[in-house]
Amino acid sequence: MIKITSHISLQPFNSFGVDVSARYFATAESLEEIQEILEWNKTHQQRLLVLGGGSNILFTHDYDGLVLQNTLKGISIIKEDDNYIYIKAMAGENWHSFVQYCVKNQYQGIENLSLIPGNVGASPMQNIGAYGVEIKDVFESLDALHLPNGEMISFTHAQCKFGYRESIFKQSLRNQFLIVSVTYKLRKQPKFTVSYGNIEQALEEMGVRELSIEAIANAVIQIRQSKLPDPAKIGNAGSFFKNPVIHQTFYEALQKLYPEIPGFPGSDKFMTKVPAAWLIEQTGWKGYRKGDAGCYPFQPLVLVNYGKATGTDIYALSSEIIESVQEKFGILLEREVNIY
Ligand code: FAD
Ligand code: NAP
Repeated sequence: MIKITSHISLQPFNSFGVDVSARYFATAESLEEIQEILEWNKTHQQRLLVLGGGSNILFTHDYDGLVLQNTLKGISIIKEDDNYIYIKAMAGENWHSFVQYCVKNQYQGIENLSLIPGNVGASPMQNIGAYGVEIKDVFESLDALHLPNGEMISFTHAQCKFGYRESIFKQSLRNQFLIVSVTYKLRKQPKFTVSYGNIEQALEEMGVRELSIEAIANAVIQIRQSKLPDPAKIGNAGSFFKNPVIHQTFYEALQKLYPEIPGFPGSDKFMTKVPAAWLIEQTGWKGYRKGDAGCYPFQPLVLVNYGKATGTDIYALSSEIIESVQEKFGILLEREVNIY
């Protein structure tokens, strides 16, 4: 039996810890409950927001509509062959618990994505990525409910149009679908990615002689715990901005002015990815704090809520950062976090 409550605080449901309210709120534990909620909404005609773990959202005002928290659970093996195992996870499964399940069972491919907060259902939304691995590398398919008519549709890899922290669900199909489950294709014969960031160094410090799925997962967990704020202690939604990808000729021009500007290969040989954290640090924002909204001192790509910041405070800070990076470097930073 579904329960739809009204005027409830969304503070416990977003990792920024911003205190806004939702006009209506419902939790769905099954497909039937989702259908019931959609049926209810046919008469109430509320705009709808699908919520996972709330770790990639900034609410800038009360949500005048229905927030549907999706807690569908279950993990099942669809098929396997000598090389691959196809695993379907329901959208409400916690992402890190799912990664740990795969690590434990020696299913290889997502260990670099350890400790990313949030749920399975949101993983294709922005093609989550870390340490050289993105969900698109292991994605097989997903099932999603078309919200306007309740029809279940399967999406292939190509149909999701994955990009750098992007998918069709963040673009032309934004707010159109509720992702119900995701199927991943994981390897039985490992092909590790360790050349990224400081994983190799962490493995060395941990005394790891032979690479394994567990060792990489542990290295990633250790690096992340040392660098990123824990949302349970300091409100945040991870990287607030995307790393800009700029044309190689523009990058070379910037290099003449700023010889130390870091750059990594972009989408193709003509493009270069510049770490936004470096740009933000160079414009003097690292460690900045205004009221309770701040730019995290150990990773300036992360904006934080030290307590009572509002979504508008954090959004205003992000606008100031965008403006000064644009002024100094001529690069327009794009917000990665979903703004509501
Ligand atoms: P939510 O915040 O609940 O939702 C995000 C968006 O997806 C919203 O627009 C929502 O409407 C939509 N959505 C959610 N679930 C569904 C669904 N089932 N169907 C349809 N739409 C849905 N991200 C990375 O990519 N890499 C990282 O390394 C990373 N590190 C992070 C570290 C920290 C400390 C934090 C706080 C965040 C980090 N993130 C990272 C961002 C975030 O954790 C991920 O983007 C995560 O996938 C969001 O999941 P969620 O369930 O919390 O989504
Ligand atoms: P980092 O390792 O200090 O690296 C800084 C930036 O340089 C990263 O953003 C990364 O881009 C890029 N980079 C580093 N080594 C690279 C290489 N070998 N090839 C290409 N690009 C390289 O970054 P960090 O902040 O500690 O984060 C580590 C990883 O976790 C990154 O992949 C980051 O994206 C991910 N992360 C994401 C979020 C989020 O909310 N989205 C939050 C925390 C961490 P990429 O970002 O493209 O990888």
